[in-house]
Amino acid sequence: MLSVRSLIRSGRVLKNVRGLVATSTRLNSTVVEPVVVEPVTVTPVAPVTPGTPNPQPRGKRRLLWVFSALVGGAIVYYLVKEDDDVYVDGKQTGYPKKPRVVILGSGWAALSMVRDIDPNLYEVVVVSPRNYFLFTPLLPSVTVGTLDSKSVMEPIRKYCKRTNTPTQYYEAMATDVDFDAQKVICKDVNHLNNNEVTTFELPYDHLVVSVGAINNTFGTPGVYENCFFLKEMEDATLIRRRILDVFETANLPAQTEAERRRLLSFVVVGGGPNGVEFAAELSDFLREDLKKWYPHLIKDVKVTILELMDHILNTYDRQINSEKVFKRENIDIRTNHQVTAVSPDGIVVRPVIKGATTPQPTQTIPFGLCVWSTGIGIHPLSNLIREKLKPNEIQTNRRALITDQYLSLKGAKNVYALGDCATITPELMIKRLEDLFKEADANGDNKLQLDEFRRFVNLQLPNYPQLEEYGKRAEELFLEADADKAGSITLDQFRTIVQKVDSKMKILPATAQVASQQGAYLAKRLNALSENKDAAYPPFKYRHLGSFAYIGADEAVAELTNPWIEKYVLQGYGAWWLWRSVYLSKQFSMKNKLLVGGDWVKTELFGRDITRN
Ligand code: FAD
Ligand code: MG
Repeated sequence: MLSVRSLIRSGRVLKNVRGLVATSTRLNSTVVEPVVVEPVTVTPVAPVTPGTPNPQPRGKRRLLWVFSALVGGAIVYYLVKEDDDVYVDGKQTGYPKKPRVVILGSGWAALSMVRDIDPNLYEVVVVSPRNYFLFTPLLPSVTVGTLDSKSVMEPIRKYCKRTNTPTQYYEAMATDVDFDAQKVICKDVNHLNNNEVTTFELPYDHLVVSVGAINNTFGTPGVYENCFFLKEMEDATLIRRRILDVFETANLPAQTEAERRRLLSFVVVGGGPNGVEFAAELSDFLREDLKKWYPHLIKDVKVTILELMDHILNTYDRQINSEKVFKRENIDIRTNHQVTAVSPDGIVVRPVIKGATTPQPTQTIPFGLCVWSTGIGIHPLSNLIREKLKPNEIQTNRRALITDQYLSLKGAKNVYALGDCATITPELMIKRLEDLFKEADANGDNKLQLDEFRRFVNLQLPNYPQLEEYGKRAEELFLEADADKAGSITLDQFRTIVQKVDSKMKILPATAQVASQQGAYLAKRLNALSENKDAAYPPFKYRHLGSFAYIGADEAVAELTNPWIEKYVLQGYGAWWLWRSVYLSKQFSMKNKLLVGGDWVKTELFGRDITRN
């Protein structure tokens, strides 16, 4: 087959394109309105007939060619040249020396940081074992081939390459941090140096930890050995291969009926958005494609979702009823079920009945594919960092690194943590109760009047984000505490307010939205810091834009928020259109927008591919 490139080279495409242009001009000519052409003065040119020598002398023409080639070459060289000479082994050799920001990771938080930090102000170095960014919300679509893997990946180098001031990227894994010496210890992940592991150290002025999280199995035995996860591109590829493998194996003539049923049993553990989206994509694949290729096997297929809580998609509004769609698709949803172990023979589950005094008997569900999607746990590097920073006093959260509201890692200097590996824990106001009361009491009468209380709320809002919810309702809070209608509140009454406000502290969810907003915030904060070290910068404020989940059969659920409507819930075909439009627009590059859109069209027209790779 001729490649597009060779066609272009041979001029056939060009001819065809010309033909098309000519045809379209012809077609258009029937509808085009007559155009009045202004008279222009035209210098008469001698007609060039075939065989007539070019009027320009040959030597002059050659000179023009050489000149154009030189100028063109210089422009192309200028545009594509890498600024190699600035870096030697990760050390900056150019002057003046800029502070170095080392970013660990190439996920949502890291990419938005790389995109927004000013490389003219900082020397930026990215370290990640994954040389690409992965658009995780569309990963479930890759498991069944609705989307191609390359359509949701972007090389991180693309965002590191900036004219004159490139960001350096190292494909390596950070293994440790020396906080006193301000350096990160990294190791090569490819092992191509005679199987020896190459390690290197990277000094930093600012360190950004955005290494994400790992899958959480809650210590359930047999999960790593027998289940598939859905977190990285490799996981999606393995799942797709497994689905096709179980169908081909179930199709073999020597299979017993029981074995065929076992192979065609698909189990998803975890009814959160990721598990649900995978089950939805799988059910589309079964109904739209596999049914056509393996019609005799479809009757033996069973899809089960196991969820510990009493409903699936429990982070979404209760109004959402995805279970109806799943029932229609013959997906068995078993809520209130806890998985106690997994073995090659099956998944051991125990129904959880509220108020039951004795544990229920377990059941075993045989499976050909089990996808484990029950949430995330702390990354080993985050855990190591935690251990180094007083885990009993400062880094007390076992599940993530604690930062303040400026995303600075608590207990370390010039280190920040963002995305899934971190959690913002603002200070509790109760810890400074008496000082806060004294500071607020401007007239020193040991009581707070309403105007003093209002001033206190406005003043302390940047320090205590838990106050935000009450920012506009300070008066309401005051009147509630001032039960005796004295017109002022005492320290004890102030304590009840502070306790109430502290209890409203929200933990941000581990989502791409949070991670990317944090990356952009920190980049802008560091840019501002570089220009004016003493300028006050506001704390990080998360803006929730809404959530989507695909639930199969061209239906999605959407929870939208905006400044006017607190929450707007949508479910069905309209939400599916919105889901697709939003994720298409969220692709970072035009190339990926075209690839994702093209894959959707391809799937509609030709179905999903079932070749195994
Ligand atoms: P990640 O994106 O996980 O990136 C971590 C990076 O760190 C990776 O590049 C990794 O290679 C690198 N790394 C790991 N170890 C090291 C090391 N030792 N040294 C250096 N680098 C390291 N969120 C939403 O908001 N909406 C959705 O619809 C949605 N859908 C999802 C669907 C799936 C299937 C999954 C898995 C997640 C989904 N999420 C969604 C969650 C979202 O992907 C995460 O919250 C987000 O990826 C977190 O970003 P991050 O930058 O913290 O971590
Ligand atoms: Mg007072």
